[in-house]
Amino acid sequence: MKCAYHPEVDAVGSCVNCGKMICTECTVPLGGKSYCEACAGEVFAKKQEELVGTKSWLTALLFSIFLGWLAVDRFYLGYVGLGILKLLLTILLGVGAIWWLIDIILIATDSLKDAKGQPLRHGAY
Ligand SMILES: [Zn+2]
Ligand SMILES: [Zn+2]
Repeated sequence: MKCAYHPEVDAVGSCVNCGKMICTECTVPLGGKSYCEACAGEVFAKKQEELVGTKSWLTALLFSIFLGWLAVDRFYLGYVGLGILKLLLTILLGVGAIWWLIDIILIATDSLKDAKGQPLRHGAY
């Protein structure tokens, strides 16, 4: 068998997605499987899509309730700057306690997005 993209080159395997025979040069290993270049692009794009909303709403809520005074919820959601500010306010002034409560309400009512503006994911994890 010859490579589907290089008629003059011997194929070393086939793409697990489209089944085309591919040579070493065309083989793109992804997650332990071999894909042709076209399919690897597709699979990669799909993976990127799945990354949307990777932060769990439940985890954020639990962090907020139990560790919110340490700003762990803010750090978890990617708000590093705000997290540090919240932490400092809590330690130095005790004002963070109000913020702690506000964040719990924001997360509980699903009004808070992560730092990238993606909605929090509801589900098992
Ligand atoms: Zn393919
Ligand atoms: Zn090839």
